Amino acid sequence: MKHLTLAALGLALLLASCAPAAQKHTATLLAMDTVMELTAYGPEGEGALDEAQALIQELEGLMSATDPDSQITALNQGQTVTLSPPVRELLAQALELCGATDGALDITIYPVVRAWGFPNEQYQVPDPTALAQLLERVDYAQVTLSGDALTLPEGMELDLGAVAKGYAGDRVMELFHQAGVTCAYINLGGNVQTLGASPDGDPWRIGIQDPEGSSYLAVVEVTDQAVVTSGMYQRYFEQDGVRYGHILDPDTGYPADSALSSVTIVSPSGTLADGLSTALFVLGREGAEALWRSRDDFDFVLVGQDGTVTISEGIEDGFSLQGAGTDYALEVVRR
Ligand code: AMP
Ligand code: MG
Repeated sequence: MKHLTLAALGLALLLASCAPAAQKHTATLLAMDTVMELTAYGPEGEGALDEAQALIQELEGLMSATDPDSQITALNQGQTVTLSPPVRELLAQALELCGATDGALDITIYPVVRAWGFPNEQYQVPDPTALAQLLERVDYAQVTLSGDALTLPEGMELDLGAVAKGYAGDRVMELFHQAGVTCAYINLGGNVQTLGASPDGDPWRIGIQDPEGSSYLAVVEVTDQAVVTSGMYQRYFEQDGVRYGHILDPDTGYPADSALSSVTIVSPSGTLADGLSTALFVLGREGAEALWRSRDDFDFVLVGQDGTVTISEGIEDGFSLQGAGTDYALEVVRR
């Protein structure tokens, strides 16, 4: 009898875990410098999508380093700011990740990001002496967050570009959950985040883009996870035949040169996945593996310039190379 109840309950939970495909609601918006696609299933989906769009716009308005009215801009101009709760929360999480990655992620990198012209697309290769001077203003460890106040030493500037989309994803998932949505998928310009399983009850199948082409090279199956990719191919400029990517090494001030083409992080936390995708791109394969061994809250897919795809064992089931990816050699890292 007990078995029967459990079985019936299990089935009910499965059916309730996701609404039929007919109740699919979608929205597309431009925010945080990218195209965002939101999909939520079920009767609550439509209203939740409206709220999610408003939430993303609000977060962007608070956190953008290029918006003259944002809290980050005010901080960067040396103003005293009473941080709003989301800014405080993201700064706390981001500073923790800067520490955990030993500064491979450094949210005070903005002076250097600007010197390369990434924010306004006025690209240039900075003068090495100027770059060395700017690097003296990059050090997350000098930032202190206390309650709703942040102290930023003079001349230092923040850039939350490496973590803001991941945080937005977490907040949207939270909003969906509170609205009663049990099945959703969002793609915030390459930051994918999923709620529950897919409408048919199977895991979501998320494509990982081929850094060398327009299609995808692998599929990873996930439930309730964020899948976030960082790569040079997402933003770069070329000068004199050299390609300069937007992910910078805080040690050198130059684009990260770690022999990786892209890094994808799979984790329940969008913020963590976003921060670590950027950091592991800087750290390279060895550093990425070492960090993975030291914690248990993420898995990775590293696409190497040498034609190797390296994944951590936690996502081995449900991972497959596809299309152009079948030309790559697959390597699984185990604990
Ligand atoms: P993502 O696309 O998440 O990898 O973030 C890259 C963006 O974060 C860049 O466009 C810069 O604005 C900023 N950024 C670049 N390098 C770093 C770094 N090492 N640490 C923190 N932020 C960075
Ligand atoms: Mg990132």
